[in-house]
Amino acid sequence: MSSENSDRLPEFKFSLKDQKARELPLGWAKQATVTDFPVSKNIAGVLMSLKPNGLRELHWHANAAEWGFVISGNVRTTIINPEGQYETNEFKEGDIWYFPRGHGHSIEGLGPDGTTFMLVFDNGAFSEFATFSITDWLSQTPREIVMKNLQVNEDDLKSLPDKEVYITGIKERLVNKKLNSSPLTHKYSLLSQNPLRDCDGGKLWIASSKVFPISVTMSGGILLLEPEALRELHWHPNADEWLYVISGNVRLTVFASSGLSSVEELSEGEIGYTPMGYGHSIENTGDSECRLLVVFNSGTYEEISLSSWLASNPDDLVAANLNLPPGVVKKFPDKEAFILSGKKK
Ligand code: MN
Ligand code: MN
Repeated sequence: MSSENSDRLPEFKFSLKDQKARELPLGWAKQATVTDFPVSKNIAGVLMSLKPNGLRELHWHANAAEWGFVISGNVRTTIINPEGQYETNEFKEGDIWYFPRGHGHSIEGLGPDGTTFMLVFDNGAFSEFATFSITDWLSQTPREIVMKNLQVNEDDLKSLPDKEVYITGIKERLVNKKLNSSPLTHKYSLLSQNPLRDCDGGKLWIASSKVFPISVTMSGGILLLEPEALRELHWHPNADEWLYVISGNVRLTVFASSGLSSVEELSEGEIGYTPMGYGHSIENTGDSECRLLVVFNSGTYEEISLSSWLASNPDDLVAANLNLPPGVVKKFPDKEAFILSGKKK
């Protein structure tokens, strides 16, 4: 549902769950880029699932950093940086990774059940299906060069794939502990930490570069809202916000200035987008707790909420501005509320 002026605004909602997946025997992926979701100029997302022994092959992304959140299961990554330093990590539900733009990496689904994770990229024009994959590269390169580079002969390369495999398989392997020389870790166990905000109606966990130093271009985490709870009207001075509904139902209001606004109803598997500086709120409209993945295209998490803004101004100024009796203004929260529980006072 959108308001009547929505014809002058883009859609702030996109149904990822209704997209067609790229399916392979050991995994699948579906994506939301600016091509399908025009407002999402600066952030794209990919939901991916790998079975045990499924390998998202060696690849890099030329135009975006990769921020990953493990929704379920177990997964292992390896990454190399331009100094030739490697890191191998294993992740469980609630863990995050951050891979700087252009750094080569791979992702393995682990037992017993494989894994599902969300990848978020700091460029809406990113495409997971047009990344730089090792099999694509080697199959496009003249065979003599590959032979010279890898110091092998033609016969040795008979089974090399002749096009991109994207997701392939790998047997359980030994992890080389020596490959752990990266000075900054790419892993952060988000949900093992205390939340950044712990309110009556919900909680927010955020991994910013303050606590996860390698994550300089992105931050993000989990917002939990109890039924009827409201993440109050606020804005982010420094970043767009990309949100994905892991579970539950929410109402996202977006204010675009100049008399333009929109209201979007989001349910499980849908994405909401709020451009930098736009006012917005998120309300749980379902009857169970909702769990949202929220991601920002800045390593610094910044927000200004309506209640703290008004509380920081003199009551008589607020009363005059809003044309309200001073007694009504005195009822407003006297400090930042952040999340308001739905319970009646
Ligand atoms: Mn990747
Ligand atoms: Mn927000």
